[in-house]
Amino acid sequence: MYDLVVIGTGMGGGTLLAGLCDSGLRILAIERGDFLPREEQNWQVDAVFGARRYRTRETWLDGQGRWFVPNLHPWVGGNTKVYGAALVRLRREDFAPVEHAEGISPGWPITYEELEPYYCLAERLYLVHGSSGEDPTEPLRSCPYPYPPVPHEPVVAELAAQLRQAGLHPSALPLGIDLRPNGRCLRCSTCDGFPCRVHAKADAEVRAVRPALQFPTVELRPRTVARRLLTDATGRRIRAVEVESGGEVFEILAEQFVVAAGAVHSAALLLRSANDTHSHGLANRSGAVGRFLMAHHNTLLMAIDRRRENATTFQKTLAVFDFYWRTPAFPYPAGSLQLIGKRSPETVALSFPALTMDEARDIAAHSVDWWLLSEDLPHPENRVTVRSDGHIQVTWHPTNGTAHTALLRAAREVLEACGYREFLVQSIGLDGVAHYCGTVRFGNDPATSALDPSCRAWEIENLWVVNASVFPSSGAVNPALTIAALALRAADHLRRQFGIATPVRETVQRLTGAQLQP
Ligand SMILES: Cc1cc2nc3c(=O)[nH]c(=O)nc-3n(C[C@H](O)[C@H](O)[C@H](O)COP(=O)(O)OP(=O)(O)OC[C@H]3O[C@@H](n4cnc5c(N)ncnc54)[C@H](O)[C@@H]3O)c2cc1C
Repeated sequence: MYDLVVIGTGMGGGTLLAGLCDSGLRILAIERGDFLPREEQNWQVDAVFGARRYRTRETWLDGQGRWFVPNLHPWVGGNTKVYGAALVRLRREDFAPVEHAEGISPGWPITYEELEPYYCLAERLYLVHGSSGEDPTEPLRSCPYPYPPVPHEPVVAELAAQLRQAGLHPSALPLGIDLRPNGRCLRCSTCDGFPCRVHAKADAEVRAVRPALQFPTVELRPRTVARRLLTDATGRRIRAVEVESGGEVFEILAEQFVVAAGAVHSAALLLRSANDTHSHGLANRSGAVGRFLMAHHNTLLMAIDRRRENATTFQKTLAVFDFYWRTPAFPYPAGSLQLIGKRSPETVALSFPALTMDEARDIAAHSVDWWLLSEDLPHPENRVTVRSDGHIQVTWHPTNGTAHTALLRAAREVLEACGYREFLVQSIGLDGVAHYCGTVRFGNDPATSALDPSCRAWEIENLWVVNASVFPSSGAVNPALTIAALALRAADHLRRQFGIATPVRETVQRLTGAQLQP
């Protein structure tokens, strides 16, 4: 019998493990994947993007009943094993209702101020390099960035200067990489989207799970899938999780259970766990479980200037938030822009198959490559369901498309003013979605949310959900830092639940060797 079972070791589950590692609680983490091997293929474009070596083999159905392979990476560390480590805070206003062109983005049951100390801890744990004072939409901070920003290479520095001249406020993109003195980061071209072979990317395996496993009361069961959660006779408590491992099916008992299986699998697990008392799935009296799936609007925008060579290796250092709340032509929130890892000829050819290899080479040599991100509004019919044959179906029609169109237009105009005359645009579809969230949202009202403001199920006293699925709205920034901050906050709630007096701040201090403000 464990004190706590955590299902999933990605940004949510992994960070929670770190936050509880020295609590003395007997904790078991269950992870469907294994440790991702450190091997040559980690940094090979054809292996990572061509053969999709590290992607799941699982298939889901879309709303029209067509199969697709989701952009998921079932390893210890979850999707953070391949993430771009852009670790950005939501804006303060994102926690309150915000009017968008196509509807209202709902508020959160907590304020920015309540999460802010946990953002500081998450930035410390994940080695965030950044700088404040450049971005006008930046929320207030009670701590400085733990590490200075990753320096721009010359072409990016020149672009930042041009954007400033054009009246914008480009800022350093906050990044979780190990560029500390003696840090392992090489600032190579195979970071964004690749696993880090030298473990210099601050992913959940390297920064949270492995350190947690140094403590004797924390255990991990990799290659183990949680199939169902089983309630006791009252229906008010989880008794056990039924798992499958090595061809065997068995139950694991614990006092408290945390679901951290990512936005889609967390909802699917709760739905699959339906029983006589909870006929629509666990934590689902409101009907919210599986619904309000959000995914962000993402577009790859390659801005090309054939007169200017871009020999940048580590390009992902710049962000622009000027259009977050409006553009010159659009009076509603539009979203954010950030540079992504430098596109190579091979990745250009994969994104745009109509190009010849020579064309792809020429474009890669002369482009700067942007990732555009706009908010997707929660809609009850955008949802995860589990079919009677057990397959997952994801029905998602992006909302708020006018905001993304406005963002794209504003980005092109300003880049044209900086001399970029040609553009290649790739919008990201369902099989490329990297930012799933919603589906088990927390809130103040049990009639409309699955979880209370501490991320505990309203109707099951020992069930918690700690990952991207709790988001009531998605904002227009990358989600991982917010997931980590929520997980550290949940760690404090769980400590209190078990009567542990020391706060998670002391654990992060211990893990990072930092002196942190009380
Ligand atoms: C290519 C790519 C780039 C990205 N770049 C960024 C970025 O730069 N910045 C950013 O903020 N975000 C980025 N993201 C998104 C970020 O990685 C995710 O938002 C984040 O990892 C989600 O955290 P999570 O805990 O909800 O889920 P995950 O991190 O996906 O973790 C879920 C874990 O649960 C496990 N699991 C699932 N089902 C079960 C089960 N039934 N039993 C046992 N285990 C289970 C999975 O194997 C996985 O390990 C990126 C994602 C991708 C794919």
